[in-house]
Amino acid sequence: MRPLRQTIPIAQALQLTAEAAIPISRTEQVRLAEANGRVLAQLIEAVADVPPFDRAAMDGFAVVAEDTAGATRDDPRKLRCVGTVHAGRMPSRGIARGECMAIATGAPVPQGATAVVMVEETEQHGEEEVRMLAPVSARQNVSPRGGDLTAGATVSRAGELMNPSRIGALAATGVNQVEVFGRPVVAILSTGDEIVEPGRPLAPAQIYDINRFTLSAIVSTHGGVPHVLAIAGDTVSDIRDGLERAAAADVIVFSGGSSAGEKDLIVDVLRASGEVIYHGIAVKPGKPTLFGRVQGKPVLGMPGNPTSCLSNAYLLLTPLLRRIARLPEYEPHTMTVPLARRVVSTPGRHQFYTVAIVDGLAVPAFKASGDITSMSQADGYFEIDSETKIVEAGEMVRVMLF
Ligand code: AMP
Ligand code: MG
Repeated sequence: MRPLRQTIPIAQALQLTAEAAIPISRTEQVRLAEANGRVLAQLIEAVADVPPFDRAAMDGFAVVAEDTAGATRDDPRKLRCVGTVHAGRMPSRGIARGECMAIATGAPVPQGATAVVMVEETEQHGEEEVRMLAPVSARQNVSPRGGDLTAGATVSRAGELMNPSRIGALAATGVNQVEVFGRPVVAILSTGDEIVEPGRPLAPAQIYDINRFTLSAIVSTHGGVPHVLAIAGDTVSDIRDGLERAAAADVIVFSGGSSAGEKDLIVDVLRASGEVIYHGIAVKPGKPTLFGRVQGKPVLGMPGNPTSCLSNAYLLLTPLLRRIARLPEYEPHTMTVPLARRVVSTPGRHQFYTVAIVDGLAVPAFKASGDITSMSQADGYFEIDSETKIVEAGEMVRVMLF
């Protein structure tokens, strides 16, 4: 045994992890329909005005605004209707004083018209006569050409996160393909002689691989592409092979073997192939976590215990990956609620403490770091800093929801 004596505070681990994260520079073209959640890598300017023509904002009648001056229900202004214009059609003619044209929302306003009277404020009398029951001012109910975006205006800039409305603005300008930053590829390597892929029978002393699934889910949620490699045994050569197979990825994450026992060999391989930046964090669970670099690539060695592995994926992998992916810092949904029962924390270690929300209270859900149900039966976690020994029942805690 080679005990892990030195640990660093979580804040320092986060700092060192962030320093090793280089924002991705690779870009790719994607269809606009696939751009949601991607980070734009180009400046996009409107090539033409949006909307491209003056259009009606209401169903009604296109008029010369002055013709409606003083109109009321009791004293309407009578105009001669000279036609209809539907959306997608050009008006057959313009209008002059004393005339109006029926117009649909989105249809081009005819030449000469300066406003639209909404249909609710008109009365049709026969084929030709339309009575205006209220006045309109010039430009009322008309969306002017270029009112949304003028030609040459910036629609989106490089670095912006594409969301539904930004995609909509790009579509408005006719763009159907955009250049975005590539998603970081994260190689995931479960290690351990006892670890078996689900779907196969278990031999005595074996267990199923949990961590590759939890890690993959974290990676896809935070802008990365998980690249799961075959399970590696607890030998230097297996781990070294794994590292070689992971070489094409942007980030490498090992699960298991990150501690300092006889068969915990990740640290030795990492030391031999690259550099170890830290080994051991004052957190609970998740103390035997390892971080380093191989050929400039960040390598995280997560403890094998599923809860330790996943909690450190929330604490460390998520910010690392988002920084590389150029995504904004993650803001989880939170609930601030009273703690249902007193919690005694381990002094000197920052605790990631899972809770279920029951009837508006945070009920402790943590069992043991080897138990995935410590998390799967929880709704989130709150953090207890390393100085705090006891959180009393009834104290308000800020729960980060999963
Ligand atoms: P280790 O970090 O390799 O010392 O493993 C700590 C504990 O986590 C041991 O009980 C392992 O069997 C278990 N473990 C390691 N890797 C995994 C995995 N991928 N899925 C589930 N449990 C694991
Ligand atoms: Mg092991």
